[in-house]
Amino acid sequence: MAVRANPRLIDELELYGAEDVQKCYHCGNCSAVCPFSREPFLFPRKSMRYLQMGLEERLAGTLEPWLCYYCGECSEQCPREAEPGETMMSIRRWLTAQYDVTGLSKLFYRSWRAELAAVLLVALLTGAGFLLFGLKYGGGSLGVYAGPGAFLPASSVHVFDWILGGTLAALLAANCARMWWLTTGRDRRVRVPLLDYVTRAFLVPLHFVTQKRYRECESKRPWAVHFALVASYLTMLVLIMLFLESLHAAPANRLAHAFGYLATAGLLGTTLYALRGRWRRATPLHRHSHETDWVFLVLLVYVAATGILQHALYRWFGLDTAANVVYIAHLMGAVPMLAVEVPFSKWSHLAYRPLAMYFADLHERALARAASPAGAQSVPAAA
Ligand code: SF4
Ligand code: SF4
Repeated sequence: MAVRANPRLIDELELYGAEDVQKCYHCGNCSAVCPFSREPFLFPRKSMRYLQMGLEERLAGTLEPWLCYYCGECSEQCPREAEPGETMMSIRRWLTAQYDVTGLSKLFYRSWRAELAAVLLVALLTGAGFLLFGLKYGGGSLGVYAGPGAFLPASSVHVFDWILGGTLAALLAANCARMWWLTTGRDRRVRVPLLDYVTRAFLVPLHFVTQKRYRECESKRPWAVHFALVASYLTMLVLIMLFLESLHAAPANRLAHAFGYLATAGLLGTTLYALRGRWRRATPLHRHSHETDWVFLVLLVYVAATGILQHALYRWFGLDTAANVVYIAHLMGAVPMLAVEVPFSKWSHLAYRPLAMYFADLHERALARAASPAGAQSVPAAA
């Protein structure tokens, strides 16, 4: 079968942050030192090769960039300073754009101005929408934050949250389906029985919740920080989607608030840690920053800070009007952060990485089965 090459593939990847790929002369040091590289997923050298040869279709079908946790060991050991670790990160951004069925991800990754414009547009629409709702249709007063007569009743915001959550989940699901097709469905060498899809499906929640493979990196700190960030984010998501009215209730629901405080502290602490790292460029993970990394982190800090301020104004100082104004400002950060980052940008990796672990496991089992009828039993599971 003819393999088409795209001579401009490296130029394209540069828009996603890849540099110095041409310097690679394939000594293989990087794959030798990578703690996660093993048959049949040998990386990062193979991805460098695909890039140099312009093998776009192969690159779009690879799972390997998702199996990399950017420990940076390969870049440290590369004799040509070809930055294979950063290249894997750039390929993950490029793959995110390939999976995205709307084309927005491509637009945002290739132009930070477009991403910023989208964030500002969604922020303005959100602010105008909630203001209009509060003034014209909510029937409440700007001087009342919660309870009867509230400017933005928690029950109405709750309905909005579910509509937004459902829309984003549908978009992300469509992207995940495309990821499956590109990496597994269309690959004729990989014949996965339906039973394997079902019996190995537990790998998705397992890797999503624990990110256990990340812990295999030599330094445990990046895993711990990432775990704290994801746990805080998920706690906040559960609170908002299921307990928003308890958070607004008077008297305060102490348990809901305790989790809210913990999640806010986790979000703010880990985000400030990541910002400091990127500013100082202290670790391989933070040495290179794409513009989209900054947009994401700044949005997170903004959302956490306005969340704290809104809470303090209402609960501690009883300033309902000011709390309502800050609440709208908070939603103007939270909605674009979710609408832009979850299906089209940085946050989508929360879905793609555990899915990649799952698909990689299915590939291993299918390849072992093809090599020997008894092979599937002897394959070490990726779990
Ligand atoms: S990226 Fe560097 S270490 Fe890896 S094969 Fe190329 S030259 Fe060797
Ligand atoms: S950054 Fe670390 S995990 Fe990723 S390819 Fe390099 S050595 Fe492997």
